[in-house]
Amino acid sequence: NTIELEQIKSLLPQWVEESRQLAVQGKVAAYIPELAKSPRDTLGIYIMDTAGGSVAAGDCSFSFTMQSISKVFTLIIALMEHGEAAVFSKVGMEPTGDNFNSMLKLELVAPSRPFNPLINAGAIAVTSLIGGDSPHERSSKILQFFRLLAGNDTLDYDLDVYQSESDTGHLNRSLAYYLKDKGILNDNVEDVLDIYFRHCAVKVTCSDLARMALVLALGGIDPSTGKSIIPRRYVQIAKVFMTTCGMYNASGEFAINVGLPAKSGVSGGILSIVPGRYGIGVVGPALNKKGNSVAGVNLLEKLSGEFEWSLF
Ligand code: GLU
Repeated sequence: NTIELEQIKSLLPQWVEESRQLAVQGKVAAYIPELAKSPRDTLGIYIMDTAGGSVAAGDCSFSFTMQSISKVFTLIIALMEHGEAAVFSKVGMEPTGDNFNSMLKLELVAPSRPFNPLINAGAIAVTSLIGGDSPHERSSKILQFFRLLAGNDTLDYDLDVYQSESDTGHLNRSLAYYLKDKGILNDNVEDVLDIYFRHCAVKVTCSDLARMALVLALGGIDPSTGKSIIPRRYVQIAKVFMTTCGMYNASGEFAINVGLPAKSGVSGGILSIVPGRYGIGVVGPALNKKGNSVAGVNLLEKLSGEFEWSLF
C-alpha cells in the first residue's frame, strides 16, 4: 500500500486538473435552490489508507452537504437498532432502474415497500425507523454517529441547504405521505421529513467522507480506537447496496468502469471504498445526466484503472 500511495500522490494532482476540465459537460443540481450556488469547477479528492497514510488533491477544503451519501449510514443505524428482519420488512433489496425520487414502482410491490434503502422513498422509510424521544433527539443521534465515523466532532448541518430543501421538497413530502398511507411509516410524517432533510444536509469535506469510508473499508473498525463500531454483517449489506444502487441508474456502468462500492449525492460528493485498503471522498458539483459528479467519476475511473482496484 505504501508504495502505491506514493504513486497516487505523484499522479493525482495532474489527474485532478484533467478531470476538472470535464466539469463543463455537467450541471450543478438546482432542484434544491441552495445547491445551485455550488461552484461547478470545484474538484477535490481525499484518500485514506488502512495503515494511517493519506493523499489529498484539488479542492479539499471545499465543504458540501452529504445528501444521498448519508443514506448509507442511516441504513446502518437502522440495522444496528432493529436488525435485518425489521428493516427489510420496510424496504426491499433490489435496484429500481428509475430515478432516485421516483414514485413509479411504489404501487407495484405489495405492500408498497420501496425497492431499496438508497432511493428516496426507501431512505425515508429507513429514517423513520431510527428511534428517540423527540425528532431533535433522533436527529442528534444520527449526527453523533456521523461525527464518530468522520472522526470529527465539529460536523454539523448546513442550515441554508436544510431550509432550502425543507421549503421546496414537495416530491419527497408526497413520497412520505404515500408511505404513511400504506403503513410503511408509522410516525409523524413531518417529523420524519425533518430528520431526513437534516441528515442530507450534514456538511462535510472530502476528508470527512474518506474517514467515514475508511470505517467501511475496515469492516466496521474505528481506525482511531481499533474497536468495532459497525457489525461486519451490516458493513457487508451497505457495500452490496452501494455496489448495486449507489450510483443511481449508472450503478451498473460504474461497476463496469470502476468496480468499487460507492455512493454519490446530488451535491456532487462521492464516497467510495477499496475494501481492506482505502476510504475515498470525492467532490465535484457538476453532475452528469444520471446525477453523478462528472469529474469525480472520471477521477475514480482513472485511479481504479491504473491501480486495478476493481473488485470484479
Ligand atoms: N436530499 C436530497 C433529496 O432527497 C438527496 C438526493 C440525492 O442526493 O440523491 O432529494
